Amino acid sequence: MSSAEKAPAAPAANFIRHIVEADLAEGKYASRRWSGKPGAGPQQQAGVPDPAKIRTRFPPEPNGYLHFGHAKSILLNFGLARSYDGVCHLRFDDTNPEREEQEYVDAIISAVTWLGGNYGENLYHASDYFDFMVQAAESLIQSGHAYVDSQSAEDMRTRRGNFGEPGQDSPYRNRSAVENLDLFRRMKAGEFADGTHVLRAKIDMASPNINLRDPAIYRIRHAEHHRAGKGWCIYPMYTFAHPIEDALENITHSICTLEFEDQRPFYDWLLSRLADAGLLARPLPQQYEFSRLNLSYVVLSKRKLIQLVEERHVEGWDDPRMPTLVGARRRGYTPEGFQLFADRIGVSKSDSWIDMSVFEECQREGLNDTAPRRIAVLDPLKLIIDNYPADQEELCEAPNHPQKPDWGKRPVPFSNELWIEREDFNETPPKGFFRLFPGNLVRLRYGFVIKCIGCDKDANGNVVAVHAEMQPDSKSGTPGADTYKVKGNIHWISAKHSLACEVRLYDRLFAAPNPGAGDRDFLLDLNPDSKTTITAQLEPSLKDAKAEDRFQFERHGYFVADIKDSKPGSPVFNRAVTLKDSWSKGK
Ligand code: ATP
Ligand code: MG
Repeated sequence: MSSAEKAPAAPAANFIRHIVEADLAEGKYASRRWSGKPGAGPQQQAGVPDPAKIRTRFPPEPNGYLHFGHAKSILLNFGLARSYDGVCHLRFDDTNPEREEQEYVDAIISAVTWLGGNYGENLYHASDYFDFMVQAAESLIQSGHAYVDSQSAEDMRTRRGNFGEPGQDSPYRNRSAVENLDLFRRMKAGEFADGTHVLRAKIDMASPNINLRDPAIYRIRHAEHHRAGKGWCIYPMYTFAHPIEDALENITHSICTLEFEDQRPFYDWLLSRLADAGLLARPLPQQYEFSRLNLSYVVLSKRKLIQLVEERHVEGWDDPRMPTLVGARRRGYTPEGFQLFADRIGVSKSDSWIDMSVFEECQREGLNDTAPRRIAVLDPLKLIIDNYPADQEELCEAPNHPQKPDWGKRPVPFSNELWIEREDFNETPPKGFFRLFPGNLVRLRYGFVIKCIGCDKDANGNVVAVHAEMQPDSKSGTPGADTYKVKGNIHWISAKHSLACEVRLYDRLFAAPNPGAGDRDFLLDLNPDSKTTITAQLEPSLKDAKAEDRFQFERHGYFVADIKDSKPGSPVFNRAVTLKDSWSKGK
């Protein structure tokens, strides 16, 4: 690569990267073997040396759409794998029996791929490990590390104790291994009703960590699993299943959000017991926690997102105002913008709120680099060039990207009737207004310098057209054009060539930084102006825009051709984000 080529910035250091680097330097995971798919104990040791130096995973539950918070986790896990010669698995954590939610599975795969998460052949399902999980549970029973408890849920809760008070042993805690194994197998065979028994790990009812007070590991649920089928009526608890999933997949660094910190001792306890029993190979995966993303002006809780959709405050999961990844994509945000954002906010263990403007600025930067420039008039007002013949037209040239001359220029037609922005004319201009007013000269960007000579009004006194005269020797790019010194520079589109299009101007979904702060109903903080639909006049070349093509509409912001509603030859545009307002002072 030549030094002139832009190399991607090296990811910023963070505590997790330091850990991975130290582990690699020490050769901590060098002895792992891999047989080509997740496996247990002896099978784990039978393969070839694991070609992946590290393995991370992104483990969504297929019970909702991914949101901006998940993006942080996806970019972290896939980013580590990319940096350190590893792989990152996509694992559906489908240990809960639930309705077939293929819709969620498809949307998750598409969002992860869109963000650049490349999991290759490493796509797994926790439910594929159900048989092994039963074997693991039986092994714990046989070694005296698990027992079947038959207390009521209520009794179990009372005996658990609380922060200040140790728990009490269950009267069933000292059942023999033989009895426990028999009961567990009958639980699995479907002999008992939901809630009558649970299998618990036998650790310490007096532990200061409540998660170690004999946590439940299997419960009875007579429910069909959408993938594992009808045969199951016991299901593993998440805290039991997750470490096992990691271990079977040879995960080295199991990264999760801070609320799982107190679960780590159980994670380690469980995997060590199973390794001691020969069911898993060492070295075992290690869990690390980082602080989740909290972003102002949005909600990221699944419950609230579902409420927004179900109560129709938005038009669906992919509404461009939703902080979901399907929404972001439809909004016109880019994976590059998400990557910039992830790099900028970093990864740490301290809880913090990130302001939405940081996210928007990253999207702007990503789009600035990748979006060609186009011209759009969002609030059209007719401008008539009185000294230009009505039957004449000519072409002007506009650059596709001001900082990228190699992107070339495109022709834009000029004629005697143009569309300009209504706000670019003011009959009685305030101080500092440099755009059109009677007697003033401005440049039609990439075109001619014109002098405003007046306007037409309707019966109510509303301006319906502006009149001007052009300076024929002022055409941009021609010799002498720059002898005209004008302070105002406005954009325009030839009326007879323009394309009238639906454009949606999106803004933040919530008007308050912390929607629903305190006890307030978060719906009261919805921004009533989060979507405005207009008909705009666009330059003719935009007719060919394809779904998901992104552009900067000069002076307005970044827009994308809507992925759902655009038709060939008739795009509909969504505004992703506005530009910084640098033009209004009359640059
Ligand atoms: P649930 O309450 O249903 O578990 P969840 O948001 O945790 O919701 P998961 O599907 O379990 O959803 O999440 C998958 C992964 O994304 C987990 O590893 C989780 O830690 C991570 N994740 C979820 N929310 C955030 C967030 N706000 N910031 C960073 N990571 C997150
Ligand atoms: Mg979760």
